[in-house]
Amino acid sequence: MKWVYVYRKPTDTGLYLRWTSNQPRNYKINLIKCLCTRAKRICSSDYLFKQELEYYKSIFITNGYPINVIKKTIHSIELSITKKKTIQNTQKIFISVPYYGECSLALANKIRKIIQNPTVNVIFGFKAGNRISSLFSKTFRGTNDNKRIVYGYSCYDYKGYYISQTARDAEVRQEEHKNAFNGNGYSKIAEHCLNNKHRNNWNTDILTIESNDLKRNIKESLLMYWYSKKKDKQVYSQKSFVLNVF
Ligand SMILES: [Zn+2]
Repeated sequence: MKWVYVYRKPTDTGLYLRWTSNQPRNYKINLIKCLCTRAKRICSSDYLFKQELEYYKSIFITNGYPINVIKKTIHSIELSITKKKTIQNTQKIFISVPYYGECSLALANKIRKIIQNPTVNVIFGFKAGNRISSLFSKTFRGTNDNKRIVYGYSCYDYKGYYISQTARDAEVRQEEHKNAFNGNGYSKIAEHCLNNKHRNNWNTDILTIESNDLKRNIKESLLMYWYSKKKDKQVYSQKSFVLNVF
């Protein structure tokens, strides 16, 4: 084992800034701090460090420093050293929590309360939760491909907006809707327009393309929500069930 302690040059006379010298008081206190923390850095054991502190204590007394100032300063250094040690000894635990606003923060607080241990430092990382858009694949298809779509039709001069989805071709569906006006088959558009004396503009808005049936149904619901809330449309549909998005 190597014993390391503060090396003092043979010329070290133990003469430092005297307490009575015309210098600011905190210069003198900083001198004590500086020498003692340097000793802590250098000394290889607590025993050697204690010896160094005793040495400096006697040096500063010789240089006219009041004993209570020396003791107080050294004590503050020892305190900061033990504080550093406890920080080093604490175990860090990282917990990743999906971020959903307030409830995620409340969850983090609950976990923190359950763990409650001075030697454990729990650090929470909040990561963005899945966005709905990430559930869908990006589909690239030709502009002529009007199959497997969610589509919309507007009423002339009214806020009415019909949204539906089909696995078949948009044009084929449009013919079916038109035929229903003449009593051939059933169509929600025909029902809506005949009941309210509205006219449909028959411009097919292709709102999205989605090959997967389930995903297309979900997108249809999201688009219905979007058009009624953000585009201020009176959305109507043939949809047989309501999707709750929260
Ligand atoms: Zn209408």
